[in-house]
Amino acid sequence: MSLMAVTRTFSIIKPDATRRNLTGAVTKKLEEAGLRVVASKRIRMSREQAEGFYAVHKDRPFFADLVAFMISGPVVVQVLEGEDAVKRNRDIMGATNPANADEGTIRKEYAESIEANSVHGSDSEENAAIEIAYFFKPEEIVG
Ligand code: ADP
Ligand code: MG
Repeated sequence: MSLMAVTRTFSIIKPDATRRNLTGAVTKKLEEAGLRVVASKRIRMSREQAEGFYAVHKDRPFFADLVAFMISGPVVVQVLEGEDAVKRNRDIMGATNPANADEGTIRKEYAESIEANSVHGSDSEENAAIEIAYFFKPEEIVG
């Protein structure tokens, strides 16, 4: 077992979760998994912001629906800090499709569907840095 560095990742509590008043419940799962919320804000994403954020998926058949979903209500964008934060967050999130998510994960407990799956989490440290900078100024992050 190697020593894990303390790193950061980017999280979004999606509109299906904010609508059901699950911001606290989702955050509790993240904290119990050893992640610390070092920045957080509730925002309404613009269409342009959502399209830019998910640009990697722009040629996928679900892109238009995904953007519409992400702007359908408020989201909570967060920076999470912890040992091996990207993987730790992906593990507690669970699989994209809640039908495939492990017991105890956020998506298993809370997701409504493969689209309305309650949380986003960066998939690499490189993307985490890009996604954090997309929503936060450095001074908004307090470690
Ligand atoms: P993840 O969020 O687990 O990293 P992806 O990056 O593959 O998953 O997809 C981004 C988001 O797009 C998903 O979280 C989900 O909201 C939506 N999505 C992915 N696949 C589908 C699909 N087949 N149908 C509808 N929405 C999807
Ligand atoms: Mg992804």
